[in-house]
Amino acid sequence: MTRIFNDPAVFAEEALQGFCELHADLVRRVDGGVVRRRRPAQPKVAVIAGGGSGHYPAFAGLVGRGFADGAVVGNIFTSPSAQQAHSVARAAASGGGVVFTYGNYAGDVMNFGLASERLAAEGIPVANVVVTDDIASAPPVEADKRRGIAGDFTVFKIMGAAAEAGAEFDDVVRLGRKANSLTRTIGTAFGGCTFPGAEAPLFTIPDRQMGLGLGIHGEPGLLDTELPSAAELGQELVARVLAEKPDGGGNRIAVILNGLGSTKHEELFVLWRTVAAQLREAGCTLVLPEVGELVTSLDMAGVSLTVTWLDEELELLWAAPAETPAYRRGALSAAVDGAETADAAEADDPERTVVPDSTSESREFAQHCVAALETARLTLHEAEARLGEMDAVAGDGDHGRGMVRGIDAAFNAAVLAADNGAGAGTVLTAAGDSWAAKAGGTSGVLWGAGLRAFGESIGDAAAPSPTALVAAVKSFTDRILILGKAEPGDKTMVDALLPFHRTLTEATAHNNGAFAGWEQACRAAVGAAEATAALAPRKGRARPLAEESIGTPDPGATSLAMVSAAVVRRFTAPAPSAAHSTAN
Ligand code: ADP
Ligand code: MG
Repeated sequence: MTRIFNDPAVFAEEALQGFCELHADLVRRVDGGVVRRRRPAQPKVAVIAGGGSGHYPAFAGLVGRGFADGAVVGNIFTSPSAQQAHSVARAAASGGGVVFTYGNYAGDVMNFGLASERLAAEGIPVANVVVTDDIASAPPVEADKRRGIAGDFTVFKIMGAAAEAGAEFDDVVRLGRKANSLTRTIGTAFGGCTFPGAEAPLFTIPDRQMGLGLGIHGEPGLLDTELPSAAELGQELVARVLAEKPDGGGNRIAVILNGLGSTKHEELFVLWRTVAAQLREAGCTLVLPEVGELVTSLDMAGVSLTVTWLDEELELLWAAPAETPAYRRGALSAAVDGAETADAAEADDPERTVVPDSTSESREFAQHCVAALETARLTLHEAEARLGEMDAVAGDGDHGRGMVRGIDAAFNAAVLAADNGAGAGTVLTAAGDSWAAKAGGTSGVLWGAGLRAFGESIGDAAAPSPTALVAAVKSFTDRILILGKAEPGDKTMVDALLPFHRTLTEATAHNNGAFAGWEQACRAAVGAAEATAALAPRKGRARPLAEESIGTPDPGATSLAMVSAAVVRRFTAPAPSAAHSTAN
């Protein structure tokens, strides 16, 4: 249970404010996250960690000398937006290029990828090191699909130390990838975690049971078993990790025994007795092991065991000094820092952009776009809890919240742009950008980018014809396909989107471009979304728990069908009669 909060919607933001207030000597708040207070004296590679909130000390607590140069901070369990990642990278970059590093989650991969495209276009060398340590989330042959959990810590630490020591850009990337390839984690959960303000935990585990293979976003474990004794648990964790010893792994290892949020240090110490003994018995030499909370999951009860097999260069970096708000090792020399940086002045002129020229027809159509977004907004607010529950079956339970944050931001941006006299294309691109910036998560990136593509397609020149609207739906669809790389049958929103687009295109061609196809397309989308219940997910956060998901429709496909149906109904249903609207 999370007991201390004001407005749950701003919990992550307020936690970050308090954190920055406390550690003002070490970190500086910037748009999108935090960076070190002091700039490096010499240009260096900037290592930028990131991901959602709820994992403290990951990731903001790891910003400091010898570790990360900045952290991009998303909402709870939600990927930060591309804009946030870009902003933090710009603030932290000191001339040596930028390396983004994060756990392997679709939303993070897409958002950091989009931010990387922007940085590269600006001439900043940029690379991504994606952590895939969780052996429970995919078999060895699909190791690149594994998610990142507490192994984030060793990989980030090793890269941070390399960059601090002045390693070249390519070398920092190489070392990070090598550390990841030599890192394995297995976790287990004893109890679920609860979002601030939520009445119930994301998942529950029966008393005296544990879920082996937990993720750090409240994804339940892969295998529920009787709760063993500490000694049996220690043996089980060690055996599972050592069974995955990578090629090239020697005897010297970095070890993390990590508490997930509400497991006490004393419990960890009891477990450590066995873990340390078992590892030594297996011939391992333990190098500076860590026992404590390093990558958490709100108040989840659980532990994870991470091993990184060290070679000579990795061991030096693992052992190197670091000084961050949450983590200190050894002593750094005093004289290597550069100038202190001041907090940025409050943004003085938010989003004061020039409104491109538009026709009066386009501005009139923009009003319909605003109305459509308003309908989507009402629909998604009403469905928020249900979409969250669907996502919690095999994903992380944030789909309802993410969609609501996205549509609220999109609607507000659209109203602002329309009030400023923008045409329909500009109104929708502003809505898309705002959706992507505020929603976070996989669906947020895709909806934001899709809406932007839709807006770019219709433009500001004229009110779109029926065929132009179908072309805009195609742009929306294509953008989502290219960015998300999902195939039909992967159990994603694409499974509702493709039938929608196909039906609309065919019906519009038949009706010589009239609007008749829209209702038909919605029926196709709603039917297809329901039919996803039979599928097992092959993309996104629900994939590791594919079996659990069978029987429940895909949340992203459901929300897409829901939104399209509500919007089309609004524009095709006969207006309610006056008698109706005044009846009580
Ligand atoms: P997250 O998965 O980051 O928590 P959400 O919960 O908001 O984000 O959205 C989950 C939905 O996103 C899924 O139900 C699915 O429809 C959609 N999705 C996930 N991955 C992809 C992808 N690669 N392409 C298209 N849609 C995807
Ligand atoms: Mg989700």
